[in-house]
Amino acid sequence: MTDENTMGCCCEPVKENNEDISCCGGDYEVTDDSKIENPKNPKKEIDLEILNKIEDMGKSLDMEIIGFGKIPKEELKENERLQYSNAIVFTMKIGEKIINEPPSEFAQELNNLLYDKFGKSIYILSDYLRENGFATQVAHPHQNLLDLPQLAETSGIGTVGRSHLLITPELGPCQKIGAILTSIENLNFSKENKHNWINDYCKRCGKCIKACPEDALQKDYMDENKADFIESQCLGCNQGCTYCIEECPFYKDGYRFVKEKHDKLETKLKEKGKL
Ligand code: SF4
Ligand code: SF4
Repeated sequence: MTDENTMGCCCEPVKENNEDISCCGGDYEVTDDSKIENPKNPKKEIDLEILNKIEDMGKSLDMEIIGFGKIPKEELKENERLQYSNAIVFTMKIGEKIINEPPSEFAQELNNLLYDKFGKSIYILSDYLRENGFATQVAHPHQNLLDLPQLAETSGIGTVGRSHLLITPELGPCQKIGAILTSIENLNFSKENKHNWINDYCKRCGKCIKACPEDALQKDYMDENKADFIESQCLGCNQGCTYCIEECPFYKDGYRFVKEKHDKLETKLKEKGKL
Protein backbone atom coordinates (compact mmCIF):
# COMPACT_ATOMS: atom_id res chain seq x y z
CA MET A 1 0.00 0.00 0.00
CA THR A 2 1.28 3.46 -0.76
CA ASP A 3 0.47 6.28 1.56
CA GLU A 4 1.48 9.86 1.03
CA ASN A 5 0.08 10.90 4.40
CA THR A 6 2.19 9.04 6.87
CA MET A 7 5.62 10.45 6.33
CA GLY A 8 6.30 12.06 9.74
CA CYS A 9 8.43 9.07 10.24
CA CYS A 10 8.04 6.46 7.56
CA CYS A 11 5.16 4.29 8.62
CA GLU A 12 1.59 4.01 9.82
CA PRO A 13 0.97 5.09 13.41
CA VAL A 14 0.69 2.22 15.85
CA LYS A 15 -2.73 2.41 17.49
CA GLU A 16 -3.98 1.01 20.76
CA ASN A 17 -7.57 1.63 21.85
CA ASN A 18 -7.74 4.04 18.95
CA GLU A 19 -5.00 6.18 20.52
CA ASP A 20 -1.87 6.97 18.55
CA ILE A 21 1.15 5.60 20.41
CA SER A 22 4.08 5.88 18.06
CA CYS A 23 5.25 4.85 14.64
CA CYS A 24 6.91 1.48 14.10
CA GLY A 25 10.38 1.97 15.61
CA GLY A 26 10.53 -1.38 17.36
CA ASP A 27 10.12 -0.92 21.10
CA TYR A 28 10.20 2.86 20.92
CA GLU A 29 7.45 4.43 22.95
CA VAL A 30 6.40 8.05 22.71
CA THR A 31 5.44 9.47 26.08
CA ASP A 32 3.73 12.77 26.89
CA ASP A 33 6.41 14.64 28.81
CA SER A 34 4.27 17.75 29.49
CA LYS A 35 4.70 19.10 32.99
CA ILE A 36 2.11 21.85 32.61
CA GLU A 37 -1.57 21.51 31.67
CA ASN A 38 -3.09 23.42 28.79
CA PRO A 39 -4.68 26.71 29.97
CA LYS A 40 -8.51 26.82 30.15
CA ASN A 41 -8.86 30.00 28.10
CA PRO A 42 -5.82 29.97 25.83
CA LYS A 43 -4.40 33.15 24.38
CA LYS A 44 -4.30 33.60 20.63
CA GLU A 45 -1.82 36.43 20.20
CA ILE A 46 1.84 36.06 21.02
CA ASP A 47 4.22 38.99 21.42
CA LEU A 48 7.63 39.12 19.82
CA GLU A 49 9.49 38.77 23.10
CA ILE A 50 8.02 35.32 23.85
CA LEU A 51 8.40 34.23 20.25
CA ASN A 52 12.06 35.26 20.24
CA LYS A 53 12.52 33.39 23.49
CA ILE A 54 11.04 30.25 21.89
CA GLU A 55 13.45 30.59 18.96
CA ASP A 56 16.42 31.10 21.32
CA MET A 57 15.40 28.16 23.49
CA GLY A 58 14.97 26.02 20.36
CA LYS A 59 18.46 26.87 19.11
CA SER A 60 19.99 26.23 22.52
CA LEU A 61 18.34 22.79 22.45
CA ASP A 62 20.02 22.00 19.07
CA MET A 63 17.01 22.67 16.86
CA GLU A 64 18.42 23.99 13.61
CA ILE A 65 15.43 25.47 11.81
CA ILE A 66 12.19 26.95 13.07
CA GLY A 67 9.26 27.81 10.80
CA PHE A 68 5.54 28.50 11.04
CA GLY A 69 3.06 26.38 9.13
CA LYS A 70 -0.66 25.87 8.76
CA ILE A 71 -2.38 22.51 8.55
CA PRO A 72 -4.71 22.51 5.54
CA LYS A 73 -8.44 22.57 6.40
CA GLU A 74 -9.06 19.21 4.69
CA GLU A 75 -6.39 17.49 6.79
CA LEU A 76 -7.77 19.03 9.96
CA LYS A 77 -11.22 17.75 9.04
CA GLU A 78 -9.99 14.23 8.24
CA ASN A 79 -7.66 13.83 11.21
CA GLU A 80 -9.71 14.35 14.34
CA ARG A 81 -6.67 13.93 16.59
CA LEU A 82 -5.39 17.34 15.51
CA GLN A 83 -6.43 20.07 17.93
CA TYR A 84 -5.06 23.23 16.27
CA SER A 85 -4.31 24.25 12.72
CA ASN A 86 -1.38 26.56 13.46
CA ALA A 87 2.02 25.06 14.01
CA ILE A 88 5.55 25.93 14.99
CA VAL A 89 7.80 23.54 13.10
CA PHE A 90 11.25 22.47 14.30
CA THR A 91 14.01 20.39 12.75
CA MET A 92 16.96 18.63 14.36
CA LYS A 93 20.00 17.47 12.42
CA ILE A 94 20.63 13.79 11.72
CA GLY A 95 24.38 13.63 12.29
CA GLU A 96 27.08 11.72 10.42
CA LYS A 97 27.27 9.03 13.09
CA ILE A 98 23.71 7.97 12.29
CA ILE A 99 24.10 8.34 8.55
CA ASN A 100 27.34 6.31 8.45
CA GLU A 101 25.87 3.41 10.40
CA PRO A 102 24.52 0.65 8.12
CA PRO A 103 20.96 -0.56 8.84
CA SER A 104 20.90 -2.53 12.09
CA GLU A 105 19.37 -2.56 15.55
CA PHE A 106 22.26 -0.39 16.70
CA ALA A 107 21.55 2.16 13.94
CA GLN A 108 17.94 2.26 15.12
CA GLU A 109 19.10 2.79 18.70
CA LEU A 110 21.11 5.80 17.56
CA ASN A 111 18.02 7.13 15.77
CA ASN A 112 15.88 6.56 18.84
CA LEU A 113 18.32 8.55 20.99
CA LEU A 114 17.89 11.44 18.61
CA TYR A 115 14.10 11.06 18.68
CA ASP A 116 14.29 11.11 22.48
CA LYS A 117 16.41 14.22 22.64
CA PHE A 118 14.27 16.03 20.08
CA GLY A 119 10.96 14.97 21.65
CA LYS A 120 12.00 16.04 25.14
CA SER A 121 13.19 19.39 23.81
CA ILE A 122 9.87 20.06 22.09
CA TYR A 123 7.99 19.32 25.32
CA ILE A 124 10.16 21.90 27.13
CA LEU A 125 9.13 24.52 24.56
CA SER A 126 5.50 23.43 24.71
CA ASP A 127 5.50 23.82 28.51
CA TYR A 128 7.00 27.27 28.17
CA LEU A 129 4.14 28.27 25.85
CA ARG A 130 1.53 26.78 28.19
CA GLU A 131 3.11 28.62 31.12
CA ASN A 132 2.58 31.82 29.14
CA GLY A 133 -1.10 31.12 28.49
CA PHE A 134 -1.03 29.40 25.07
CA ALA A 135 -2.56 26.00 24.34
CA THR A 136 -0.34 23.41 22.66
CA GLN A 137 -0.33 19.91 21.22
CA VAL A 138 3.06 18.33 20.58
CA ALA A 139 3.63 16.48 17.32
CA HIS A 140 6.53 14.29 18.46
CA PRO A 141 9.02 13.49 15.65
CA HIS A 142 8.37 9.76 16.14
CA GLN A 143 4.64 9.88 16.74
CA ASN A 144 3.31 10.27 13.25
CA LEU A 145 0.40 12.40 14.41
CA LEU A 146 0.37 14.08 11.01
CA ASP A 147 2.39 14.43 7.83
CA LEU A 148 5.31 16.40 9.29
CA PRO A 149 7.38 16.84 6.10
CA GLN A 150 4.29 18.25 4.37
CA LEU A 151 3.65 20.58 7.31
CA ALA A 152 7.28 21.70 7.19
CA GLU A 153 6.87 22.38 3.47
CA THR A 154 3.89 24.66 4.17
CA SER A 155 6.10 26.59 6.58
CA GLY A 156 8.41 27.39 3.65
CA ILE A 157 11.59 26.02 5.23
CA GLY A 158 12.11 23.40 2.51
CA THR A 159 10.44 21.05 0.05
CA VAL A 160 9.66 17.35 0.22
CA GLY A 161 11.79 15.43 -2.28
CA ARG A 162 11.07 12.17 -4.08
CA SER A 163 12.63 10.41 -1.09
CA HIS A 164 9.63 11.71 0.88
CA LEU A 165 12.17 13.50 3.08
CA LEU A 166 12.14 17.22 3.69
CA ILE A 167 15.06 18.96 1.93
CA THR A 168 16.26 22.26 3.39
CA PRO A 169 19.14 24.60 2.48
CA GLU A 170 20.64 24.19 5.95
CA LEU A 171 20.48 20.41 6.35
CA GLY A 172 19.61 18.92 2.95
CA PRO A 173 17.65 15.71 3.67
CA CYS A 174 19.34 15.15 7.08
CA GLN A 175 16.76 16.17 9.65
CA LYS A 176 14.04 14.91 11.91
CA ILE A 177 10.94 17.06 12.10
CA GLY A 178 8.72 17.87 15.06
CA ALA A 179 6.07 20.52 15.73
CA ILE A 180 3.93 22.25 18.28
CA LEU A 181 0.33 22.78 17.20
CA THR A 182 -1.00 25.78 19.04
CA SER A 183 -3.80 28.25 19.75
CA ILE A 184 -1.49 31.08 18.60
CA GLU A 185 -2.87 32.75 15.50
CA ASN A 186 -0.48 35.63 14.80
CA LEU A 187 2.54 33.60 13.70
CA ASN A 188 4.57 34.70 10.70
CA PHE A 189 3.20 32.09 8.30
CA SER A 190 5.09 31.65 5.07
CA LYS A 191 3.25 32.87 1.97
CA GLU A 192 5.59 31.25 -0.53
CA ASN A 193 8.03 28.41 -0.79
CA LYS A 194 11.19 29.32 -2.68
CA HIS A 195 12.44 25.73 -2.63
CA ASN A 196 9.83 24.26 -4.95
CA TRP A 197 12.41 24.05 -7.77
CA ILE A 198 13.56 20.90 -5.95
CA ASN A 199 10.60 19.08 -7.51
CA ASP A 200 12.05 19.69 -10.98
CA TYR A 201 15.49 18.57 -9.86
CA CYS A 202 14.08 15.39 -8.31
CA LYS A 203 12.27 14.61 -11.56
CA ARG A 204 15.63 14.21 -13.35
CA CYS A 205 17.47 12.59 -10.44
CA GLY A 206 15.76 9.59 -8.83
CA LYS A 207 18.93 8.44 -7.02
CA CYS A 208 17.05 7.73 -3.80
CA ILE A 209 14.78 5.33 -5.69
CA LYS A 210 17.78 3.43 -7.06
CA ALA A 211 19.52 3.46 -3.66
CA CYS A 212 16.67 1.86 -1.76
CA PRO A 213 17.56 -1.79 -1.09
CA GLU A 214 13.96 -2.72 -0.31
CA ASP A 215 12.13 -1.06 -3.22
CA ALA A 216 10.30 1.03 -0.65
CA LEU A 217 10.56 4.00 -3.04
CA GLN A 218 9.12 3.40 -6.48
CA LYS A 219 8.56 5.65 -9.48
CA ASP A 220 5.15 7.28 -9.42
CA TYR A 221 4.02 7.08 -13.04
CA MET A 222 1.11 9.45 -12.37
CA ASP A 223 3.40 12.22 -11.07
CA GLU A 224 7.03 12.18 -12.21
CA ASN A 225 8.02 14.64 -9.46
CA LYS A 226 7.14 12.11 -6.83
CA ALA A 227 7.83 8.52 -5.81
CA ASP A 228 5.45 6.10 -4.17
CA PHE A 229 6.51 5.10 -0.71
CA ILE A 230 5.75 1.57 0.44
CA GLU A 231 6.04 1.90 4.15
CA SER A 232 5.85 -1.80 4.98
CA GLN A 233 9.10 -2.29 3.03
CA CYS A 234 11.07 0.60 4.53
CA LEU A 235 13.87 -0.08 7.02
CA GLY A 236 14.12 3.56 8.05
CA CYS A 237 12.03 3.25 11.18
CA ASN A 238 13.13 -0.11 12.56
CA GLN A 239 16.70 -0.54 11.28
CA GLY A 240 17.80 3.09 11.06
CA CYS A 241 18.34 2.86 7.28
CA THR A 242 19.61 6.07 5.66
CA TYR A 243 20.61 4.88 2.15
CA CYS A 244 18.15 7.28 0.49
CA ILE A 245 19.78 10.16 2.40
CA GLU A 246 23.33 9.06 1.56
CA GLU A 247 22.70 9.01 -2.19
CA CYS A 248 20.84 12.31 -2.32
CA PRO A 249 22.87 15.08 -4.04
CA PHE A 250 21.55 17.52 -1.42
CA TYR A 251 23.45 15.47 1.16
CA LYS A 252 26.52 14.74 -0.97
CA ASP A 253 27.05 18.14 -2.58
CA GLY A 254 24.94 20.54 -0.52
CA TYR A 255 21.96 22.71 -1.40
CA ARG A 256 23.85 25.62 -2.96
CA PHE A 257 25.88 23.41 -5.32
CA VAL A 258 22.78 21.53 -6.47
CA LYS A 259 20.90 24.80 -7.01
CA GLU A 260 23.70 26.21 -9.17
CA LYS A 261 23.84 23.01 -11.22
CA HIS A 262 20.06 23.06 -11.60
CA ASP A 263 20.00 26.73 -12.66
CA LYS A 264 22.72 26.17 -15.29
CA LEU A 265 20.86 23.21 -16.76
CA GLU A 266 17.58 25.13 -16.86
CA THR A 267 19.31 28.03 -18.65
CA LYS A 268 20.76 25.64 -21.25
CA LEU A 269 17.44 23.91 -21.79
CA LYS A 270 15.71 27.28 -22.21
CA GLU A 271 18.33 28.37 -24.75
CA LYS A 272 17.66 25.20 -26.72
CA GLY A 273 13.92 25.79 -26.51
CA LYS A 274 13.41 22.59 -24.51
CA LEU A 275 11.77 24.29 -21.54
S1 SF4 B 1 16.58 3.65 1.44
FE1 SF4 B 1 16.12 2.78 3.47
S2 SF4 B 1 15.11 4.48 4.61
FE2 SF4 B 1 15.12 5.04 2.45
S3 SF4 B 1 13.10 4.36 1.72
FE3 SF4 B 1 14.57 2.69 1.32
S4 SF4 B 1 14.47 1.33 3.09
FE4 SF4 B 1 13.48 3.28 3.66
S1 SF4 C 1 18.01 11.57 -4.35
FE1 SF4 C 1 17.44 12.88 -6.06
S2 SF4 C 1 15.28 12.39 -6.44
FE2 SF4 C 1 15.77 11.64 -4.39
S3 SF4 C 1 15.21 13.33 -3.03
FE3 SF4 C 1 17.39 13.55 -3.47
S4 SF4 C 1 17.43 14.96 -5.26
FE4 SF4 C 1 15.33 14.18 -5.08
